[in-house]
Amino acid sequence: MCGIVGYIGHREAYSIVLKGLQRLEYRGYDSAGIALYDGEELNLCKTKGKVSDLKDKFEETATSTKGTVGIGHTRWATHGVPNDVNSHPHYSNSGNLVIIHNGIIENYDTLKKELIKRGYTFESDTDTEVLVNLIEDVMVNEKVKLGKAVQIALNQSVGAYAIAVFDKRKPNELVVARLGSPLAIGIGENEFFIASDASPFIEYTSNAIYLEDGEMAVVRTQKQIKVRKIHDDSLVDPYVQELQLNLEQIEKGGYEHFMLKEIYEQPNAIIDTYRGRMLVNEGIVRMAGVDDNIERLANAKRILIVACGTSWHAGLVAEYIFEDFARIPVEVEYASEFRYRNPIIYENDVVIAISQSGETADTMAAIKLAKEKGAFVFGVCNVVGSSISRESHAGAYTHAGPEIGVASTKAFTTQITVLTMIALKLAKHRGTISDSDFRYHLQELDRIPAKISKVLEANDHIKLIADKYKEAPNCLYLGRGYNFPVALEGALKLKEISYIHAEGYPAAEMKHGPIALIDEQMPVVVIATKKGHYEKVVSNIQEIKSRKGKIIGIVTEGDEAVRDLADYVIEIPETIESLTPLLTTIPLQLLSYHIAVMLGKNVDQPRNLAKSVTVE
Ligand code: GLU
Repeated sequence: MCGIVGYIGHREAYSIVLKGLQRLEYRGYDSAGIALYDGEELNLCKTKGKVSDLKDKFEETATSTKGTVGIGHTRWATHGVPNDVNSHPHYSNSGNLVIIHNGIIENYDTLKKELIKRGYTFESDTDTEVLVNLIEDVMVNEKVKLGKAVQIALNQSVGAYAIAVFDKRKPNELVVARLGSPLAIGIGENEFFIASDASPFIEYTSNAIYLEDGEMAVVRTQKQIKVRKIHDDSLVDPYVQELQLNLEQIEKGGYEHFMLKEIYEQPNAIIDTYRGRMLVNEGIVRMAGVDDNIERLANAKRILIVACGTSWHAGLVAEYIFEDFARIPVEVEYASEFRYRNPIIYENDVVIAISQSGETADTMAAIKLAKEKGAFVFGVCNVVGSSISRESHAGAYTHAGPEIGVASTKAFTTQITVLTMIALKLAKHRGTISDSDFRYHLQELDRIPAKISKVLEANDHIKLIADKYKEAPNCLYLGRGYNFPVALEGALKLKEISYIHAEGYPAAEMKHGPIALIDEQMPVVVIATKKGHYEKVVSNIQEIKSRKGKIIGIVTEGDEAVRDLADYVIEIPETIESLTPLLTTIPLQLLSYHIAVMLGKNVDQPRNLAKSVTVE
């Protein structure tokens, strides 16, 4: 999920790899490591912390910084807390192979047990160390070269990866492969650069091959690069691109801002969230944190959700899902209010704490309080090894990858994804959902990423709407049921990055106050999908219309009634009601993004806001 860099050629590799890691820092990471081959030995150094810490440690401890082959890694932990041992590169048991890996090997546990039976030992908790030993095992047992062994091992692995593997007995080659995580190969004169994107090698070469998913390459100095398909061994004629991007463009993956990049990452982020957990064909959801505590969770008399900001909105969506399917009463609390109001917490309550960073101070404090009162605490965080994940009794990571834009986007949708899977599991255990309904929900969740991609196609249309309303001083967002929290989230996004005052309301509450604000200046965003009180929302739209408010409707594909009334509509594909927030939220993110850009605001770092609020 984070960054990899490699070099093989005739230059000193150390500074290339180190500088490359610095260039990849924007991707977010918790630890870093480097392995350098000095012609005889591998010098390996890794540490929790920053690339600058790695540099200090390497220069203090390594016997040499010389060598023309090197690999480096910035880790964003998925398996095992961020610490020195879990950092990459990882050696194989013999010490001959060394690997760097971005991604997740889902079946690492099964593979690890197999390898342990065959006498392998493991120092770290990572999935990556399993992979390098599997490669070694294949080399030894099948007597094949490194490239072949990598291919065989990857065919036994399930998951996502960008890897680079080096064998110190064969120092003139590197083997790389990708599936689901990016990997670019820079091609120089008798030298190759490997990296998650082209930024680490942009000053050395402008010729690059971007490996496609399911491809691997053996790069040898003095030789042509060989690219092949991992699954059937067929050779691929790689397309060598001429790079025309500058550094900043590369870091943002060609997007103008991190926020936009992260909005567009949502289909893949959601896949990463349910990858390996949701087995649609088998009709199973596996989540260790839930499975290991199923009785405690499913028998909760009440679920208390504590969170702040966008995570609190995800909690509100979860309230509907848990009550609807698992039939457990839910209360959603602002963590800051909860901790200061002497709340009633019973021992058989379950407290779910939601936080992207896992460091939110108020949420942390709420967890401590809940634990003191004997409740069971379940954490939902994005950052592995974060304080909340450590303090909770159990939990589930969202695996959304680093979120850099201060205004949260993919964290929100992946939190809803995790919470949906938990609610469905509890419902199944409690017998409050039928088997067929359970399966149907999994199938529909599996279709969400493609549907989000479809919504993203409306970007130009949304830009047009943004242009129309960018000068509005106020904006109202309305939704009902599952989409009431989405209305809150839409309003929050607009406030955060464009500084336009916006309010989210349950559509029916409009008559109890906000309707007084409506005039021809007031844009009203109404979420009016076919599922969920549609007729009632249409009546609300009529009421706005008769007061000359401007209506932007978020509607289901093919809708006609709202289209006739609204000034603009944005369509979303049909899905089951509980999953609509995952779709309706996307146009609202894009709308606020474009308005903020048009107003010349600093989208990724809005004034006064911090990414993770670690003070009360
Ligand atoms: N799954 C690996 C780990 O947790 C790689 C994480 C990454 O992509 O940085 O070490």
